[in-house]
Amino acid sequence: MAKVLVIGSGGREHAIAKALLTSSQVDTVYCAPGNPGMTLDDIQTVAIDEMAFKDLASFARQNTVELTVVGPEVPLAAGIVDYFQAAGLAVFGPHQAAAQLESSKVFAKQFMARHQIPTAGYQLFHDLTGALAYSRAQPVPQVIKVDGLAAGKGVTVAMDRETAETALAQAFASTDTVLIEDYVAGFEFSQMVFVGGDKYVLLPTAQDHKRLLDDDLGPNTGGMGAYSPVPQITPAIIAETVATIVEPTIAGLKADGLSFEGVIYIGGILTPAGPQVIEYNLRLGDPEAQILLPQCQSDFYQLICDLLQHRQPVVQWQTTDTYLGVVLAAPGYPGPTQTGVPVPTVAGADYASVAGKPGALVSAGGRLMMLTAHAGDLATAQQVVYEQLTQLELGPLIYRHDIGAKGLAEK
Ligand code: AMP
Repeated sequence: MAKVLVIGSGGREHAIAKALLTSSQVDTVYCAPGNPGMTLDDIQTVAIDEMAFKDLASFARQNTVELTVVGPEVPLAAGIVDYFQAAGLAVFGPHQAAAQLESSKVFAKQFMARHQIPTAGYQLFHDLTGALAYSRAQPVPQVIKVDGLAAGKGVTVAMDRETAETALAQAFASTDTVLIEDYVAGFEFSQMVFVGGDKYVLLPTAQDHKRLLDDDLGPNTGGMGAYSPVPQITPAIIAETVATIVEPTIAGLKADGLSFEGVIYIGGILTPAGPQVIEYNLRLGDPEAQILLPQCQSDFYQLICDLLQHRQPVVQWQTTDTYLGVVLAAPGYPGPTQTGVPVPTVAGADYASVAGKPGALVSAGGRLMMLTAHAGDLATAQQVVYEQLTQLELGPLIYRHDIGAKGLAEK
């Protein structure tokens, strides 16, 4: 029986740990640093920070951990996979060089140009004067992107010139590399892929809800809820996404000497000319992982072991239901939040920034937990989750009331 280690502390890592626990080959799942909500599910939390690579590797070695799975982007961008591999430890995730596809928007744009992967046109600027001159000569809307990891806060979709100019001035106050991208209108969706060399497994499609408030209003967040699969993304669109984006991306990584074992997350947008890439992530989405991984009917540990060996896994996903999850966040999120607010203890929920212990969990950050349900159609799944929410004592906790609405509305 294998012991596995999941690195991270959010709802995504809770979902990854639960998926690994269902394997008949796994008897112990550690999560570092994890959160106290995870202990509801027999996950052993380990008080080591996700950036303390040396301590994490020592823990893995001392506890004969056979596989480590890295959840979040920050340790990946800092090279945790390179570190673990150099220490002779099996780890699932991209090397630092490949993680640049997420951590640097310039790297990603140049990669897509080199490998003819469809994406919005852009220009790169290193000074405000040049950027302003270009911006003024372009139509609005236009999209201003700061290079580097920004936890969803590095992008401004400027609907008017004043917003564009303010965003450019703010961007150059903190960085010297800014992109101005053409605005692309369309239906957004996420297509995640588990990859091992040139072998891959497609996950079901999903849609995140990045804005804080109903009707996609308010500031961007880490994600307020998700559902899967997305009815608008038909098998024909998935096939086109695979042919024009997924396979060229995997081949491009190999051609560039960046082949790896991990996740490629395509933030896609459906345009009249076909699907395009809005962004790449090199890890599972949070909150998407929480509604995707429960759909895997095969042994998740075996899936990862196969990909690490560059063997094609045999994987079955459920095909009858829609999965939907709603995030509960602390008042103030995505700004400074109140700590110590009571958080309900619910079996099956995925926990994130909580402290205390089951039965007496409290807020310790922004996103706290996600409640999920599945049903034969999207409308029923939505109804089930929101009904569950009305039964809970939520106090001042906040959540969106329209997760899934776009799946029901636009056809
Ligand atoms: P990103 O961090 O690159 O995913 O951008 C955050 C959000 O900004 C995306 O989910 C889109 O809603 C929006 N966005 C980014 N790039 C574009 C674009 N070129 N056209 C329209 N919307 C965009």
